[in-house]
This record gives sequence, structure tokens and C-alpha cells, in this order.
Amino acid sequence: MTKRVVLIGHPVERSLSGVLQQACFDALAIDATYEPLDRLLIDLPETIGSLRHDEFLGANITVPYKERVVPMLDRLTEEAQQTGAVDTITREGTRLVGHNTDVLGFRPALDALVGKQKMPKLAVVLGAGGGARAVVYGLITAGFQRIIVFNRHLHRAENLVRHFARSAAHMELRAMPWHESVIEAELAKAKLLVNASSIGRQPDESPVSAELLPAEIMVLDLLYQPSETRLMREAKASGASAVAGGDLMLIHQGAAAFQLWTGSPAPLDLLRDRLEEARGGFGSHSRDGGRDGEAEPATAAPGGPSA
Ligand code: NDP
Repeated sequence: MTKRVVLIGHPVERSLSGVLQQACFDALAIDATYEPLDRLLIDLPETIGSLRHDEFLGANITVPYKERVVPMLDRLTEEAQQTGAVDTITREGTRLVGHNTDVLGFRPALDALVGKQKMPKLAVVLGAGGGARAVVYGLITAGFQRIIVFNRHLHRAENLVRHFARSAAHMELRAMPWHESVIEAELAKAKLLVNASSIGRQPDESPVSAELLPAEIMVLDLLYQPSETRLMREAKASGASAVAGGDLMLIHQGAAAFQLWTGSPAPLDLLRDRLEEARGGFGSHSRDGGRDGEAEPATAAPGGPSA
């Protein structure tokens, strides 16, 4: 029987995971399909329940359901518990297990961004959704001492901070209102900015104005777009010390999920190649992380080609 993996979210059409995962199934001759399932919140419990059947290897969960699915599962892994967010589901018999592979994808992306520089200790995170939870967990475990989370709806950032109260007890983790003056003051102190909000999908859209970006800051934009986001372009123009997009996180997150469903390591080179093909050959291997995992130096021409 052909096995199924589904991507559950709303919307799901922007996701590149299908192209990547299907290429890996085919390359390893695994008889499985990867299908997007656009579901409204009201249909989520039934959709998650259907994953208990034999035909499913599991699922990916995407925007905006990573936190919503948590109570619908039978067991959570350490990363899923720690973050309170699930992006991958596997099946143990009829039991459903929730994993957080964003966490596993974030760390290589952070390491590649920082490269040979010293790991910073002060970060600003924009966004407080499922992706931001993986980021905050990754920063805490990477030894950050101060993390400020800004979110459009402050209460969501406050919930995030409450969720991490225990694991962040030794350091400063705070939620702050999304006001330019507050963001500017915090960016002036920070060494790393991570955009984990959905803002930036349009080429002319950025979560922060260029004037707020201090020189020498490192910028990681989780969005994976056909070309550099406005935030990435403006960070380079402002003299950021390193800039990267979400590709490397996506690749490592996808590889981890593939291995969870199939038991086989994912072909990373194939994932990288398919990601580039899927975006029409835009960018080169060095775009954000490259084959050797090094972040692109921020001295590249601002606004130039993403290669
Ligand atoms: P969620 O839906 O859980 O969260 C979305 C976040 O974006 C929230 O903080 C939300 O704020 C904010 N947001 C959305 N629209 C606006 C807006 N118009 N103005 C201000 N804030 C807004 O999504 P995820 O956390 O899962 O994903 C967030 C982004 O990160 C997505 O673009 C996703 O593709 C990317 N991502 C990339 C990954 C990778 O592998 N590269 C991995 C995970 C995520 P509010 O709470 O106020 O609505």
C-alpha cells in the first residue's frame, strides 16, 4: 500500500515541503506520497484523528496550527514539550507522536549564520508563533542571556514567555509590545535579530524599518522566499555582520522529519538541489548557508542577486 504523508495547515499552497519530501521518497524508492491538506480550524481534530490509520506515515503541521495540534496527540517528544509546538507527527500503532523538527532545523541555521564569530548572547525575536517558539528554545539552549520577543498581539508573546519560564529561569526572556521606538531601543542592544513573524513575504514588506537596523547585527529571516527578503537586503545595506534566510532551517527541518517517518537519513544534497529548482533556479548554493553551511558574508552587494 502506498503510504501517505500530509501537510496540514491553512494556507498550505506556499509550502515547498511537498516538492522536497516527494523527491526524497522517490530517490530512496519509498512508496509514499506527500500531499498538502488545507484545513479550517474546525476540521482540525477530525483530520488529525484520521492520521491514526495504517495508510499514514505521519504529517507535517504548518501555519497556523503548530500549537493547536498539541492537545490532539498522544505523546510529545522533549522538543515538542519544551516548545509547546508540533510541526511533525509520526504514528506508533494508532498513537500519534508530536515532534518539533523546527528546533532541529534552527540550530544549524544559527550556527551557519554566526560562522566563525562568537555566539552572541542578546537577541530580538519578532513573532510569537510556532516558529518563534522553536527559535526561542534554540536560543536558550545556545546560551543566550537576553531574548526579547516582540509580537503584534502582545498576549501571544506573553504566553510564550510564560511557557518558557522554567527553561529560561537563568536568563532574561521578556515579551514587549510591537512599537517602533521599543524595537529600536532593543535592537540597539541586541547582537542577533530573528524574524519569526510571517511579515516579509511581499518583496516590499519588512517587519522593521531599515533605520532601526544597527550595523554589525546578525539577521536571520525564517522566511524562505524566491529571492532575499526586504529585511535581508536592508540588513546588508546597514552593515549587518551576517545575514541569512530560512532555507537552511527548512532543509534541516525537512531532513529530520523525513528520517522520523521513514527511518532513513534524508539526502541533504537532493533537498538543497530541489529547493533551488523549486524556486526556479533562483540563488546559488551560497545563498544562505550554502553547501558547506556557511552564511553569506554581509558584504555582498545590497539588493543584488541573491547568489
Ligand atoms: P504562526 O502562524 O504560528 O505565527 C505567525 C506569526 O507571524 C505570529 O507571530 C503573528 O503575529 C505574526 N504575523 C502574521 N501576520 C502578521 C502581520 N500582518 N503583522 C504582524 N505580525 C504578523 O506561524 P509560524 O510561527 O509557524 O511561522 C512564522 C513564519 O516563519 C512563517 O512565514 C513561516 O514560513 C516561517 N517559518 C520558517 C521555517 C523554516 O524552516 N525556514 C520554520 C518555521 C516557520 P500574531 O500572533 O500577532 O498574529
